[in-house]
Amino acid sequence: MSMRIGYGYDVHQLAEGEDLVIGGLTVPHEKGSVGHSDADVLLHVICDALLGALALGDIGTHFPDTDPTYKGIDSKILLRDTWKLVQAEGYALANLDSTVCLQRPKLKPHIPAMRECIAGILGVDISRIGIKATTTEKLGFVGLEQGISAHAVVLLEAQA
Ligand code: MG
Repeated sequence: MSMRIGYGYDVHQLAEGEDLVIGGLTVPHEKGSVGHSDADVLLHVICDALLGALALGDIGTHFPDTDPTYKGIDSKILLRDTWKLVQAEGYALANLDSTVCLQRPKLKPHIPAMRECIAGILGVDISRIGIKATTTEKLGFVGLEQGISAHAVVLLEAQA
């Protein structure tokens, strides 16, 4: 069986007056992530990992932040469209795993709903979707609450 691995990494600034959108959900917080789209760092790294697995470039290639079409766009649409590209190449998801790095707020209560959202977009069982969260012990831009980052890896299996 042909398998492909992919990896994604992304960072967004945090600022007051923005929504904190992570994994397709808006997490209540006094700061939110800044970006051209809805700045959903988790969905962005999953898109990049999926694209990377098949050497299809990155999220910026497919959805450029210079294109007004993508201004404020819901990143669930970006993930859906990315997933279509993967399926068109004849691949299915074995599993994905991810880590969101954020000092505050605690994400644990929101993770089940994020997993369900992503599993729904990809049309897979929730057991294939891993999401973890960590602080950075108050160190660096994450620890100083200046930004949010995330990492994701995916494993794809060729169909037939
Ligand atoms: Mg991004």
